[in-house]
Amino acid sequence: MRAMTPRRFRVLGTLGMVILLATAGVAPAVATTDTGDAWTGVAPTHSGGTTGTPGEEAVLHQRGIVSRNSEPGSVTLTFAYDLPSSITGLRVSVPVVGLDGITVAGMEGFERTDRDYFLWDGETARPTISVRMAVTDSIASGVRGIEREDWALVSEPQTRIQVRTDARPRQRTSFTVADGEEGYARSHLAYLGPHERRNVTLGGERTTFVLGDADADPTRAIEFLRTANGRFDFGVRRDSMTVFVVPLSGLEEGPVQAATVDTAFWVGSTGLRLDSTGSVFAHEYVHTRLDTVGEEDAAWLTEASAEYYGRLFAFNAGVGTYDSFLDGLRTTRYAPDRRAAVLTDAETWQGTQAHYEKGAHVLAALDAEIRRRTDGEHTLRDVFAGRSEPFGDYEAFRSAVVEVTGDEAIGTWLDRYATTDDLPPLPEQPRYYVADPSLDPDGDGMTSGAELDAGRHPFVEGAATEQLADRTTATATPSATETAGDDGDETTPAPTGTEGQAPGFGVVAALAALAVLAAGVRRRQ
Ligand SMILES: [Zn+2]
Repeated sequence: MRAMTPRRFRVLGTLGMVILLATAGVAPAVATTDTGDAWTGVAPTHSGGTTGTPGEEAVLHQRGIVSRNSEPGSVTLTFAYDLPSSITGLRVSVPVVGLDGITVAGMEGFERTDRDYFLWDGETARPTISVRMAVTDSIASGVRGIEREDWALVSEPQTRIQVRTDARPRQRTSFTVADGEEGYARSHLAYLGPHERRNVTLGGERTTFVLGDADADPTRAIEFLRTANGRFDFGVRRDSMTVFVVPLSGLEEGPVQAATVDTAFWVGSTGLRLDSTGSVFAHEYVHTRLDTVGEEDAAWLTEASAEYYGRLFAFNAGVGTYDSFLDGLRTTRYAPDRRAAVLTDAETWQGTQAHYEKGAHVLAALDAEIRRRTDGEHTLRDVFAGRSEPFGDYEAFRSAVVEVTGDEAIGTWLDRYATTDDLPPLPEQPRYYVADPSLDPDGDGMTSGAELDAGRHPFVEGAATEQLADRTTATATPSATETAGDDGDETTPAPTGTEGQAPGFGVVAALAALAVLAAGVRRRQ
């Protein structure tokens, strides 16, 4: 039972990314003329990015510049354009303009042609569009920005840029804080106000902590990043990452606790502490690796994977107890109203936590299922690793699962829990949750892999194992949805002679005993 239900809508992140993808898709020009000089969409390259063809000179640079206003309640965002000479026409859309609280504050060299469209006059060398954006003092309603007395946190709205040109330029975007203002901006997020910055470089990846809360202690977070590097990054490396730590307490009760935009995320100072496996820090870290995981009827995968792996990685990095880890993953009802949820049908979970909670629970069961069916050769991570594109739909995800597992039957297993409101029992055998056998999460001086081999519990310090060879099944979690009965054998199978033979994994009887031990530990608490 969790006292505090984690609630992490990626409000800022979703807005940023969805529109970004539309922009980056190099979609056909919206408006064309019949003379051949059509409007062309430009795909953005982020500042500091490495894409682009050598020798390609023309670069269109959009600078987003943010500043606080003298009156509280709004911030000003200016988009300034450096244009290569090859460009003869420029049209910019700022889709949020006209939405509640977002107005045009000024223009230079642009004419507003429609609600959110701006047309360059063709002459002004560095044309600008300024937008006034309302910010509130609460994260719940401050979707685009939050402001308190001393500071503000702002998410840069997306723009769409079309040019008229013979040679399509590359687009660079950058986001900075206005000259003379205290603050730091990166990857579409800006913190405005006094802060300290701390840089940590781990495995070639630089993380900048922007500490708006002077008392925030990033020690545990840095330790997590050190462990995660090369282990929990899905093979995805980022040149740099930014963690904004906002001076907010009591976020646990709020609807939004953190959000990721590309390679930056923000958390409250409590989220930085990683004091439970449900910590938002590890969750957001996973978002910086996997980005948008699924689209259409696979959209649930984005939060489900961040929630499952956030918990799994934090736990394997030594956060929390095995008991609390399992309790955090296990779900039987979904906030706020316990309705039945079908993961592939977003209408059944929108406005709920089910894509996090049922999503993570189902992925945990799926991970165990893949490990079981491949004798520990593969894990769910093989399904996600090395992808540069989201799964276009559920079918694409399902195919990848079948391919990694090499077993068509797992598709049927997955269909049951993704496309209906059935819930699998949560596997309880500890070996299914060993994310890296070289780690020692229980801190007893023996790695998880060695502990499994030796018949010891990888997650409970000093726990030895009585040999209970006749114990054949682990405790299954009863499904709390309408289904019951035959779930048990499917997800928490009786150990067989073929299980647990992969390097670093122990023998069957010992493992079964460990499951019993884990259940015993739970009862004592
Ligand atoms: Zn998330």
